[in-house]
Amino acid sequence: MISVFGDPRPFVNTKAVWEESALEMMPLAVPLIYAYDASQSVRRVRAHRLMVEHLVATLQACLAAGVPLQRMKYGGCYQWRPKRTAAQLSLHTWGIAVDLEPAENLLGEPWADDGRRLHPAIIDTFKKRGWFWGGEFEKTLDPQHFQWATGV
Ligand SMILES: [Zn+2]
Repeated sequence: MISVFGDPRPFVNTKAVWEESALEMMPLAVPLIYAYDASQSVRRVRAHRLMVEHLVATLQACLAAGVPLQRMKYGGCYQWRPKRTAAQLSLHTWGIAVDLEPAENLLGEPWADDGRRLHPAIIDTFKKRGWFWGGEFEKTLDPQHFQWATGV
C-alpha cells in the first residue's frame, strides 16, 4: 500500500506537507449531508489524489442506485488518526477510507438490514467498485467504514 499511496508516517509533525503532496479536493455533483452536523452540506471531498475521483464516482453511484440522501450522511474521508482499535495509523490518514452513517453504524456492532443501519445498496455499490467493507472485517466490525486497501 505504501508503494502505491506513499508513507505519511515521516510527516507526523508536518502534516500539511503530507496533505499537500498526497491529497486532492474534488466537488460532489450532489452535496451530501454532513453526519456530525446535519445542518451542513458536504460539497466536496478530500481524499488521496489517486482515489478521489473513484470515491466521488462511488458516492454518486450509491445515489443513482436509489439510496436517499438522508441514509447516506457523510462521516469523512481524510483524517490523520490512529486506528480506533490499534496503535497503527488508520487508512483515513492516507485518504483512502470513508465513513458513512457513523451514528447508525457503530464500531463493533454487526450490520443488519433493518432500515436504520447502512443501506444495502451502499454496501453493494462500494463492494462492486472494489472497496473493502468494515462490516466484513475479521477482527472488529466497522460497518460505517469502507477502505480501498488492506494492511499497511
Ligand atoms: Zn472509518
